[in-house]
Amino acid sequence: MISVDKSTEHIRRSDSLLSVVIPIYQEGSHIKSSIKVIENVLIENNFVYEFILVDDGSKDNSWSELKSLAKDNEAMNIIRLSRNFGKESALCAGLEYARGDMVLVMDGDLQHPPEIIPAMVNAWLHEGYDLVDGVKHSRGKENIIYRACAKLFYYFIYKSSDINLGRASDFKLLDRKVVEAWKELPERAIFFRGMSAWVGFKRKEIEFDVAERVNGKTKWSLIRLIRLAVNAITSYTSVPLHFITLLGVVMFFGAVALGLHTLFMKLSGRASDGFTTVIILLLVIGSAIMTSLGIIGIYLTKIYKEVKARPRYLISDYIRGGDDKC
Ligand code: UDP
Ligand code: MG
Repeated sequence: MISVDKSTEHIRRSDSLLSVVIPIYQEGSHIKSSIKVIENVLIENNFVYEFILVDDGSKDNSWSELKSLAKDNEAMNIIRLSRNFGKESALCAGLEYARGDMVLVMDGDLQHPPEIIPAMVNAWLHEGYDLVDGVKHSRGKENIIYRACAKLFYYFIYKSSDINLGRASDFKLLDRKVVEAWKELPERAIFFRGMSAWVGFKRKEIEFDVAERVNGKTKWSLIRLIRLAVNAITSYTSVPLHFITLLGVVMFFGAVALGLHTLFMKLSGRASDGFTTVIILLLVIGSAIMTSLGIIGIYLTKIYKEVKARPRYLISDYIRGGDDKC
């Protein structure tokens, strides 16, 4: 059971430290200017801040750009993962290193508008919220199929686990105690958006419009999205497994009815038409068994990965701003 130690309760002051965690993958072309834009908002509002910039194994010049950012700016802490572990793992690394009384998590491509950071901090500082969630007012530019799939996916999660992720984003401000609670969650495969809804706490939503990407392109290919969706669904619900049981029950009743019918026809000397029935039955039962095995397999893989308990990420470099390693 996770309990939140009272000693983690910080006093909220206007000079409390704000950690900004940003996962970065192949954003070299614009990352310096994007970080500057975010930093300017923090400076204008007189926040006391630090950046935790996590390079998620980029193959472009992201790391050298980050190093040059950290060279003469003590507020920049940069971490490099040993390979591309995925956004969720990069976020974990960032949260692990953040020291702030509040931690802001956002993307590095300015799709999460920095202008609303002051409103988020205000909600934490003056209204006493522990988790300020940026929710998407509009989803930005997306094609129809993508939008439909996203809708279906969120509907499924909502119906099966009661967690509404429809407009959720990874743009969040977390109080220190939320971060501590999150760090204690033992699972390896994580889905950040869902996890923060799951932990609860005093939560406020702030709407924002998803901006256009400043440069570069999205890292979410169709395959990656499907993988993320399967991971998210299996993380939050076991409904697919119960669905298999239900399917079994339905098919059992069908089997009894068909069996009785076949027997009756046989006894009355009018056996059923041979092949068509057999072929259809074989196909239906065969595909039902395969699908069921597949679903069980997905959960089994998940258990297998969790049991192995490998670390979520490996760090190859960590540099604090102003270090001579830059
Ligand atoms: N990202 C990452 N590792 C990955 C993929 C993405 O750290 O494997 C980062 C990326 O650099 C960006 C954020 O996650 O800061 C969101 O990624 P992206 O903009 O590609 O996603 P989208 O906004 O299209 O959902
Ligand atoms: Mg983006």
